[in-house]
Amino acid sequence: MSIIIIGAGLSGLAAATELLEINPNADVKILEASSEIGGRIKTIKIYDKLIELGAQWIHGNTKENSAYAIAQAICNTSNSSYRECSFYESNGKRIKEAISNKCCELFYRIQNELEAIENSTASPNMSVAEYFDKELPKYYKDFKDDELLEAKNVFKQLLRMNESYMGALLTDVSINDPYISTGDNTCVNDGLAKICYHFQDRIYKANRTKDIIKLNHKVEKIVLKNSTVKVVCSNGLELNADHVLVTLPLGVLKQSNHLFDPPLPKMKQHSINRIGFGFVGKFSLYYENPVWKDSKHFAFIPSDDPKDWTDAIQGYFKDSFGQNILTGWIVGPYTLQYENVTDEELMKVSTNLLRKYLNDDSIPLPQHVFRYNFCSSELFKGCYSYVSMETQAVDYANYSDPILDDKSVPRILFAGEATIPQSYSTMHGAVDSGKREARRIIDYQSRKIPIYTI
Ligand SMILES: Cc1cc2nc3c(=O)[nH]c(=O)nc-3n(C[C@H](O)[C@H](O)[C@H](O)COP(=O)(O)OP(=O)(O)OC[C@H]3O[C@@H](n4cnc5c(N)ncnc54)[C@H](O)[C@@H]3O)c2cc1C
Repeated sequence: MSIIIIGAGLSGLAAATELLEINPNADVKILEASSEIGGRIKTIKIYDKLIELGAQWIHGNTKENSAYAIAQAICNTSNSSYRECSFYESNGKRIKEAISNKCCELFYRIQNELEAIENSTASPNMSVAEYFDKELPKYYKDFKDDELLEAKNVFKQLLRMNESYMGALLTDVSINDPYISTGDNTCVNDGLAKICYHFQDRIYKANRTKDIIKLNHKVEKIVLKNSTVKVVCSNGLELNADHVLVTLPLGVLKQSNHLFDPPLPKMKQHSINRIGFGFVGKFSLYYENPVWKDSKHFAFIPSDDPKDWTDAIQGYFKDSFGQNILTGWIVGPYTLQYENVTDEELMKVSTNLLRKYLNDDSIPLPQHVFRYNFCSSELFKGCYSYVSMETQAVDYANYSDPILDDKSVPRILFAGEATIPQSYSTMHGAVDSGKREARRIIDYQSRKIPIYTI
């Protein structure tokens, strides 16, 4: 059997590993447009320090989480302390810990209640922003009159920070969320890329053919004719296969009219369009000798709603790889604007923000800034998926259902983080989706039973 996998992110790598470990003689090729494996995992090393330009943590710390299980076996891991923030107002005032701690406790309690609702019954469609607007005022009575304004500001900031977690503005995110938590965040201290190289090693251990992973091979056309799928790359290479597994990011598939011949079925394309794909900007400021007076992360509470990308920066996190790296986050429509500014501008704006909010004019300019512009990249067109107000439960099945030939044989299959409702937007979701589709191919090949979808 011959299989072409499009994309060497975690889902593509996990699929190839599963296929080859079960059938080492399978003819598997991975076509990857960029010059490296890993996709949205982008670990770089600068002066002995690791920086994650893409995914940051494993969202989970239990064995059911496939990314965590691998990291536990081969990496050095630790718990993430991303919730330990100090909250600053734009006049340089730090909110008293007694208030911010109480706000965090209440906020996370509401969040847990929301998760419980999501996992129990189908609730009326409401955005996460509307849900918090309804719930938060119930707790205002827990604060003294002279604390309430600051408490409201901390809640406002916690909502903003939740947006980077969800990957979208909370007004766009539905509470009907099928995600199932697998525990707290885990840091991989030797870099998330190690998980990708682990899969690559297993692929070449199972089958020593040299060029299973073909880098710099951008796929431009996928043609299904009779019982063969032809894949055409921008460098002129044309390959035929029994099955093609598409792991392209959702952002790319949303704009893929030209890619499939015949075009994707309308129902599948509508579902792809309804699932949200968020815009997140993440950048790491590198300092040679920083002296932070505050050991926690810095959360910045703006005085007004953001009017441009500079107001949209939510604060700076101390990177788990070292106190001399601060990671800034932006979410939503201003991300594209942010991706267009120069590194010099970004460092200057960040320094002004840090000086203003931390009320400390001695904060120096960083030496460097490191980032990857996922949203304007034609290989990603965004960052990670979310359940939008338009998303319907059936969309995940419509998206991940394979395209069958006229004998009901699965010819074009779909994996990737956005195809898996219970763990969308994550690395473990990507791994599980790749394995799921590898199994589908193996099941079909071992039984040769056509698949029927409804
Ligand atoms: C900024 C950011 C922060 C994140 N933070 C976290 C986090 O903390 N925790 C977490 O669990 N997840 C996080 N994620 C999400 C996580 O990175 C993804 O869910 C996961 O890596 C996706 O894997 P994938 O295989 O589905 O897709 P990808 O990794 O996107 O792989 C798809 C591959 O397809 C390739 N490709 C695109 N077009 C073509 C083409 N035409 N031809 C051939 N190849 C093509 C791409 O180059 C890419 O390598 C984050 C993502 C981003 C961007």
